[in-house]
Amino acid sequence: MMKHLALLGSTGSIGTQTLQVVEETGDFKVEALAAGSNIELLEKQIRKFKPQLAVVWNKDKALELEKAIADTATRVATGMDGLLEAVRLKEVDMVLTAVVGMIGILPTLEALEAGKDIALANKETLVTAGHLVMAKAKEKGRQIYPVDSEHSAIFQVLKAQDPQTISKILLTASGGPFRGRTIEQLQHVQVEDALKHPNWAMGRKITIDSSTMVNKGLEVMEAKWLFEVDFDQIEVVIQPQSIIHSMVEFNDGAVLAQLGTADMKLPIQYALYEAKRKFMGGKRLDFKTLKQITFEEPDMETFRGLKLAYQAGKLGGSMPTVYNAANEWAVARFLDKKIGYLDIIRIIEESMEHHTLIENPTVESILAVENETYQFIESRWNR
Ligand code: NDP
Ligand code: MG
Repeated sequence: MMKHLALLGSTGSIGTQTLQVVEETGDFKVEALAAGSNIELLEKQIRKFKPQLAVVWNKDKALELEKAIADTATRVATGMDGLLEAVRLKEVDMVLTAVVGMIGILPTLEALEAGKDIALANKETLVTAGHLVMAKAKEKGRQIYPVDSEHSAIFQVLKAQDPQTISKILLTASGGPFRGRTIEQLQHVQVEDALKHPNWAMGRKITIDSSTMVNKGLEVMEAKWLFEVDFDQIEVVIQPQSIIHSMVEFNDGAVLAQLGTADMKLPIQYALYEAKRKFMGGKRLDFKTLKQITFEEPDMETFRGLKLAYQAGKLGGSMPTVYNAANEWAVARFLDKKIGYLDIIRIIEESMEHHTLIENPTVESILAVENETYQFIESRWNR
């Protein structure tokens, strides 16, 4: 049966790979596509996939696109209203959310409210509003299928296992391009160096997050919500070759892992098919030539972003929002070459120290804390 999708962030790394899966399988109809401002690529996607709705965040670009595709049957919408309209479309069964950042919170909650399943790449939503999103999914009897490769791995491992028997989640990490470096060596890291990930080609923000290990920190919080475990049951293991995508240790001592090549199309496809296996072409692991899989302990002193994530997660409430918002602000400024590499972590730490915790924040207070965090940082760092 054909499944109907809304794809938020269609012009990005996950978005374009999702459309490859859609094309290769032929089992999905795209009802809505959404992007920030890249209307050139979005137009090509519209002409190929013929969605009923296209959303462009930027208003001027939305108007431009509207003119460019006047000969098609696709309607154009803009801003948050546009995103909310896309996820509510009555034909849509599943929303794949691959936008970057907290902008994903409201569309995800709205999609669940409208009774849609979620394929979730946008980890920032779960980090900041995990308690609200998981509760809404339960209330509406909907599923959240993780697209993040580690969480997909854990999800695959846990299929047919009793969740009560989990003793810990072993979240693997490549360690990024700066694994093994000292703080002194990180002092002068340039944008170009940080954008070179050893194993994965991804969007710019997550690539910087991977280099600072903030990405792993966000994933620790994401895992807490998805798998309902405590923070001391989540252990990060460095596995530089990115062959093992994550593991679970059970209460009898058994450890199950999911292995594979570093290709996001598998977790994307597994989510789109609601955790069912389907044929997928592509490279396979070859254990005759695969020389070694090695492990290391993460260096949480040099890569303090990971340590701060555990702190923010354990404090809970609004603190993960502060951690995440400060990181979003800092990474954008680092990419613009306005601040130094190590400033990213300083900014997260300062913001967390300054914040007065709110327990159980509503979506309104999460968005207010996001803004307050930006204002606080700007008062100190916008020189
Ligand atoms: P990209 O930067 O490559 O793509 C982001 C997408 O979101 C683009 O289509 C962009 O449009 C769109 N977008 C940005 N802002 C808005 C907005 N306000 N409204 C509508 N659309 C918007 O990011 P990635 O694909 O790398 O990452 C997406 C998410 O998935 C992130 O949360 C990331 O952490 C997560 N993720 C990514 C992985 C990967 O391999 N890339 C792996 C695991 C998780 P435009 O092109 O017009 O700017
Ligand atoms: Mg990941």
